Amino acid sequence: MRPDILNPLFAEAETLEGVGPKLKKPLEKLGLTRVRDVAYHLPDRFVTRRPIDNLDAASVGEQIVVPLTVTEHRSSRSGRGPYTVMATDAPGNYVALTYFGKASYTAKKLLPVGAKRWVAGRLDQYGQMLQIVHPEHVAEDSSGLLGTLNEPVYSLSEGLTQPKVAGLAAQALARLPELPEWIEPGQYARAKWPAWADALRLAHKGEHPAARDRLAYDELLANSLALMLVRADNKRRKGQPLRGDGALRGKLDLPFPLTGAQSRSIGEIEGDLAQDTPMLRLLQGDVGSGKTVVALEAMLIAVEAGAQAALLAPTEILARQHFETLRRMLAPTGVEIALLTGRDKGRAREAILMGLHDGSIPIVVGTHAIFQDTVAYRNLGLIVIDEQHRFGVSQRLMLAQKGRVTPHTLAMTATPIPRTLTLAQYGEMDVSRLDEMPPGRQAIDTVVISQERIGEVVDRLAAQLEAGAQAYWVCPMVRELETEDIAAAEARYAALRERFGDDVVLVHGQLRPELKDAAMERFASGNAKLLVATTVIEVGVDVPNATLMVIEQAERFGLAQLHQLRGRVGRGSKKSVCLLLRGEALSETGKERLALMRETQDGFRLAEEDLRLRGGGELLGTRQSGDTPFRVADLDQIQRLLPIAHEDARLLMDRDGGLSSERGEAARILLYLFERDWGVQLLRGG
Ligand code: ADP
Ligand code: MG
Repeated sequence: MRPDILNPLFAEAETLEGVGPKLKKPLEKLGLTRVRDVAYHLPDRFVTRRPIDNLDAASVGEQIVVPLTVTEHRSSRSGRGPYTVMATDAPGNYVALTYFGKASYTAKKLLPVGAKRWVAGRLDQYGQMLQIVHPEHVAEDSSGLLGTLNEPVYSLSEGLTQPKVAGLAAQALARLPELPEWIEPGQYARAKWPAWADALRLAHKGEHPAARDRLAYDELLANSLALMLVRADNKRRKGQPLRGDGALRGKLDLPFPLTGAQSRSIGEIEGDLAQDTPMLRLLQGDVGSGKTVVALEAMLIAVEAGAQAALLAPTEILARQHFETLRRMLAPTGVEIALLTGRDKGRAREAILMGLHDGSIPIVVGTHAIFQDTVAYRNLGLIVIDEQHRFGVSQRLMLAQKGRVTPHTLAMTATPIPRTLTLAQYGEMDVSRLDEMPPGRQAIDTVVISQERIGEVVDRLAAQLEAGAQAYWVCPMVRELETEDIAAAEARYAALRERFGDDVVLVHGQLRPELKDAAMERFASGNAKLLVATTVIEVGVDVPNATLMVIEQAERFGLAQLHQLRGRVGRGSKKSVCLLLRGEALSETGKERLALMRETQDGFRLAEEDLRLRGGGELLGTRQSGDTPFRVADLDQIQRLLPIAHEDARLLMDRDGGLSSERGEAARILLYLFERDWGVQLLRGG
């Protein structure tokens, strides 16, 4: 149970004044459903404005507050252009206050002709004319604007404005309870951080690095602590030692020798499985590094030892692909394997359930359907989770409840994250790394091209498709709003369809799952030749015939993400090409990034470099989902503070593993605050 003291924070956002059905949606879009979320919706940055007497004292581009007298209203003749309010300062300089769309209503109300008003906004120049587009504030006297000289800028969604969000944040901040301190006293004193509630208030008020660091540290501490609780809980659990005699593995007839990294990983897994503490191991390996064979060997060990194994995939299509691959490889062993997804119904499904129940089916592959309550296993010894990052820790824990004794878990991920982040995301797991590619891989040619030459790119694409190849086209990432990403993808899709007709399919995040699956399947089966997508291309999808990848506005992506996307091609025997289209204004860092993409295909190296380059503060727009499990801490803070938080958590666990001391109690509150309460729940269980 969540401690009562947190109740005001977990009240719904609708309990804030002014939040009705109309604001609920845009707030939800930002993930702000409770008072807590609003309080933690920290400003992206602050604007500083200078109060001035007249426009002569300001320069173009500057944020100002200035007294003006309204002289005239002009609406554009077509009615579609901007609505302009002309105004003049004391010496007689004219400035156009420009409003677009519905904002003109506000202008009419706030700025009657002849009135003197204080106006806050950014001074721009449009042709010969000074202008302020959508003044941020308009007030009748200066006192009303003094509070806006240093103002937070929040990220918004459609339907929200800066003042609205600021107002809600203020209300949320007024409801902060006094919470006991959970940070270790020595660290707290050394860092000279403000107390929790003060830190939140300061962080909304101005640039306050100590406050931001403290809030980030809280999140990192909560995460480390929760992962350690998972680990401690796992250590206490009884698992079943699985020792195989090699009989089944010996019958495998692989068309290739294992790489050193594969053999080493299999050895590590074999060692874990033989223990009676359940395995919690992460297999980290770039796309194409050969994780499937490692999973296969692990599952065969379980079967040799008389247990069952289940492989969980995040989507139907991936489950199906794994099933086909594994069935082929298993053929010489005679081991049966079944596929179970949400789609299977009736008799076929019953037969599989029977087989799992009586143990005649030793290996099953599927989506989360394999862990529904109706599915009972005779003796589930090993769970393999593919594309681990798609599943949260809490889901992983639920799976572990499935067996009579806790099954061993092997999680696999193709996201080559840097070591610091591995600790953050998978701190409770042991890690095996496939840091060696199977031999004979063809390097992917990576070419950086100006977006202006898109016509040539389409011609090149046409030639490839003509020759029977398939291709991916990743659409530009627009800042902030997902709807705009989708609009951009739909526009590109429409344009490419004009040229390639039914050969093109479109996939994006808001498609219904059936439609998305259908489109993916048309592409995977070769019926469609070109897949146009936003950045949500299914991870892990294997289409060896796809040999061309086009990525628009490549400079907007993180290196790790570009690498992931590029990994969709280069999977067959044919030469593959990745075209990175770049915009005009490319920063130094942007150039460096794209150059690195050309230079290396080593995912781990790219991940480290990505972190280094982004640490420089150049991270564009929104944080990519799946990037880190954090909402407050940014990459720079993770690097600086995570090691300290991790150590702090470890010490606390050593001294007070049950979290029952005074500080332990405070730490429990922290876990609930950051919704890492699955950690606390484990405490009670153990
Ligand atoms: P991923 O790690 O992305 O899941 P896969 O397991 O799908 O990679 O393997 C990618 C491809 O490499 C497959 O076609 C697989 O058969 C092949 N492969 C795996 N291991 C080796 C190896 N040791 N030597 C050669 N090819 C391999
Ligand atoms: Mg895979």
